[in-house]
Amino acid sequence: MVHTPSLSFEIFPPNPAAGNEKILSALHDMQDLAPHFISVTASNNKFNIEETTVRLADYIHNDLGIPSIAHLPAIYLTKAQVSNILTALDQIGVHTILALRGDRIPNVAPKNDFRYATDLISFIKEEAPHFDIIGACYPECHPDSPNSISDIKHLKKKVDAGCSSLVTQLFFDNDVFYDFQEKCQLADIDVPIVAGIMPIINRNQALRLLHTCENIRLPRKFRAILDKYEHDPESLRAAGLAYAVDQIVDLVTQDVAGIHLYTMNNPQVANYIHHATYSLFKHSAV
Ligand code: FAD
Repeated sequence: MVHTPSLSFEIFPPNPAAGNEKILSALHDMQDLAPHFISVTASNNKFNIEETTVRLADYIHNDLGIPSIAHLPAIYLTKAQVSNILTALDQIGVHTILALRGDRIPNVAPKNDFRYATDLISFIKEEAPHFDIIGACYPECHPDSPNSISDIKHLKKKVDAGCSSLVTQLFFDNDVFYDFQEKCQLADIDVPIVAGIMPIINRNQALRLLHTCENIRLPRKFRAILDKYEHDPESLRAAGLAYAVDQIVDLVTQDVAGIHLYTMNNPQVANYIHHATYSLFKHSAV
């Protein structure tokens, strides 16, 4: 039987001061694309998760009828705060969580209830075992890890604590992903691994990315796009989208479990990728 992967989207809640008008309109456009699910990121320490992530997850799940997943970074949360968020998610019927540690923020002391994502996963499994839990993973090794062996060992513990699948950090070199999959197999990490893909569509986005994701390998073909179209935004956008489609086609032919598209809240990007790859994926019945 031919394996058909899923296509899902990630969005992030806007700064509450900016209002939700733009993101609701973007989500409305994305609804027509019938993604397998839409995940909503969560602020690590800046915004109230119930007022941002939970509210948008509610809209996606109950107003648009698309399965939604709430991200939950816990390093700056107490157990009581996480319990409240679980209750809020229960009430709106969203029962899938991407359980995260979250990045450490310089000069901000963590709450110490959740040192690692594994602590959060164990807590949710005890407190609310009916939740489905997804974990994050890093094909190019998490920057806090001394090496990939240590990273994979901790990933194995995280999955054993109760992850039903994993979603990767973005990457531009598919061979890095295939090597990572192999390492996971060797470590008996046998849950589906969904590939996180971010189409690069403008120079600022590329520069921000190069600054924040130092661990990510940029293949020659990808660097050439950034160099050649540095001052030509239209061509950079076209080439960036084509690069992402090329990555996705390769991953799908290698039987990837799914593609999670980092949409950056841009419905045109989601639309382009969706149309270019439509028949490769299964779609939700919206
Ligand atoms: P963990 O799994 O806890 O791992 C963090 C580091 O600790 C790794 O190096 C790991 O090897 C190591 N480690 C784990 N357990 C142990 C142990 N017992 N002893 C020693 N070392 C250990 N951030 C947000 O703030 N909001 C979001 O919405 C968000 N969404 C994300 C979605 C995806 C798909 C990904 C890949 C990342 C996302 N992030 C988000 C970023 C994430 O919070 C950071 O990358 C963070 O630094 C690590 O989170 P984690 O859950 O992967 O951490």
